[in-house]
Amino acid sequence: MEKRSQVYAGKAKSVYTTDDPDLMVMEYRNDTSAFDGQKLAKLDRKGMVNNRFNAFIMEHLEAAGVPTHFVRLLSETESLVKKLRMIPLECVVRNVAAGSITRRLGVQEGTELNPPTFELFLKNDELHDPMVNEYHVRSFGWAEESHLETMKTLTFKVNDILKRLFDTAGLVLVDYKLEFGLFQGEVVLGDEISPDGCRIWDKETGEKLDKDRFRQDLGNVIESYELVGRRLGIEFPA
Ligand code: C5P
Repeated sequence: MEKRSQVYAGKAKSVYTTDDPDLMVMEYRNDTSAFDGQKLAKLDRKGMVNNRFNAFIMEHLEAAGVPTHFVRLLSETESLVKKLRMIPLECVVRNVAAGSITRRLGVQEGTELNPPTFELFLKNDELHDPMVNEYHVRSFGWAEESHLETMKTLTFKVNDILKRLFDTAGLVLVDYKLEFGLFQGEVVLGDEISPDGCRIWDKETGEKLDKDRFRQDLGNVIESYELVGRRLGIEFPA
């Protein structure tokens, strides 16, 4: 497999073509951002930690029957992935209220959401990823009906699998964001799953161990990501 030209550079990852039209290289950089790119920093080890973290989670999900774009790790900061036609939606599941829902609906952070809630956001930086509903998805044709159904089913399946995985490691999976795309007509989980796109709290102390440490200037951002990873059984090089 030969890595070729860069086709996309997002806020934290860059994507490259390969000599295989069905495969891409995803490079995890040390860049981090919050609040629509208004807060930026470079964090040592972040690319490596998120690359390994994501590989572990994607392999765990794949083994449990969730189709993902992940193929294999290529290097400390690169993974080989299937080339997807991305669906421009973010699927968010919340098990506990935190972040935007606390402001939008006036609920207290930490309120348990039973059953968990599901939200859709349009991926559009200029519009600041507005919240949308399923009728918007249909009216604007952002996803086919059957694909939307599969996205919801898979998003909740991921919740069952990851809630259990995190719980056994003494962690609470508060919320997370998933993105999907199409590969040979099938809905497949894309993007990344790491503490950048999840909220993860210590079950005993409630300590935040995710990107909120960066958003809220709590310090020890990557140390916390690594702590979560090690508790899940992921090994990181010194
Ligand atoms: O900001 P909000 O509370 O809506 O985020 C819900 C979850 O989705 C959080 O875990 C957050 O990190 C993640 N998210 C994300 N990328 C976005 C928006 C939210 O990873 N663009």
